[in-house]
Amino acid sequence: MSADAPRTPARARLRLGELSIEGRSRAGEETWFRVHPPGLAFDAGRGAHEVAGARDLFLTHGHLDHALGVPWVLSQRTLHHRDATRVVCPRAITAELGSWLEGAARLEGVAYRFEIVGLEPGERLAVGRDLEIEAFATEHVRPSLGYHLLRRRRRLRADLAGLSGREIAGLRARGLPVEEEREEVWLSYCGDTGAGVFDLAPRLAESRVLMIECTFLGNAMRGRETLYGHLHLADLVERRDRLAGHEWIVLHHLSRRHCAAQLRAEVERSLPELASRIRILGEEEERT
Ligand SMILES: [Zn+2]
Ligand SMILES: [Zn+2]
Repeated sequence: MSADAPRTPARARLRLGELSIEGRSRAGEETWFRVHPPGLAFDAGRGAHEVAGARDLFLTHGHLDHALGVPWVLSQRTLHHRDATRVVCPRAITAELGSWLEGAARLEGVAYRFEIVGLEPGERLAVGRDLEIEAFATEHVRPSLGYHLLRRRRRLRADLAGLSGREIAGLRARGLPVEEEREEVWLSYCGDTGAGVFDLAPRLAESRVLMIECTFLGNAMRGRETLYGHLHLADLVERRDRLAGHEWIVLHHLSRRHCAAQLRAEVERSLPELASRIRILGEEEERT
C-alpha cells in the first residue's frame, strides 16, 4: 500500500493467553482498546460500542484520536442505564476533561453519570478481584500516562518447593502458611510515547504483555518521532535487549503513511529474534 492510499484501521481481536484484547488504532485517527479480564477500556478513540461496555475507562491523554469518544461513551452508558463510568486520566487534565464533558452533557440536556479520577505516576486503582491498575509516566507532547495491569497470584512458598503433597497438607493442617502472594505485571499499555518511557517506567521490562506504540518506520521518517513524542521502529530495535522478556509485544498506533504489512516486513528484517512474539494491530484483518 502506498502513502497516498491510507485505509481505515481494522478492528483487531487478539487472544494472548488468558487475555483477550479488542481494539482499533491508527495515529491521528483513533485508538481504543478493550481488555478482558477485567473488561476495562484503554482510551476511547472516536467512540465504539466496545468501549461503551466498560465501566472503567483509562484515558492516556487528551489528544482527540484517543479522547474524542469519551462524551459519546458517557452518553451511551447513561442512555442505556449502565453503571456510572469511572474515567481515569492524568491528574493534570482533570479540569479540562471535566469542563468538556459537562459541556457535552449540557449540549445534550442529559446528566451523564460518571466520575473523573486523576492519577499521578505510581498511583493505583483496584479494577477487579486481585487486579489493579498502576499509572506510569510516558513521554509525550501533552500530559500523559500509561497503565500497568497488575495481577496478584498465590503460589506455593518458594522454600516449600521440595516437599511432597502430604507434607504440605500436614503444614496446612497445623495452620502454617504454605502459600505466598506475588504481584506480576500482566500487561502494560503505553499510549502515545517517545522512547523515554523505557527509563520513566522501568517495570515495563517485567510486563508479560507489552502494548507499545510504533508510529513510524523507515529512514525517511526518522526524527519525526522525537518531534511529536512518538516511537519509530528504530527506537525499539535500539532497545531490543529490553524487549527480550515479554511473552507478547503488541505494536499499535501506526501512522497512516504505513500499513501493517510494511511494519511486519521491517520487524522480520530488523528484529528476527522477537518477530514471532510481536503482534501488529490489524495485520490479520488487513489480509482478509
Ligand atoms: Zn495518538
Ligand atoms: Zn497523542
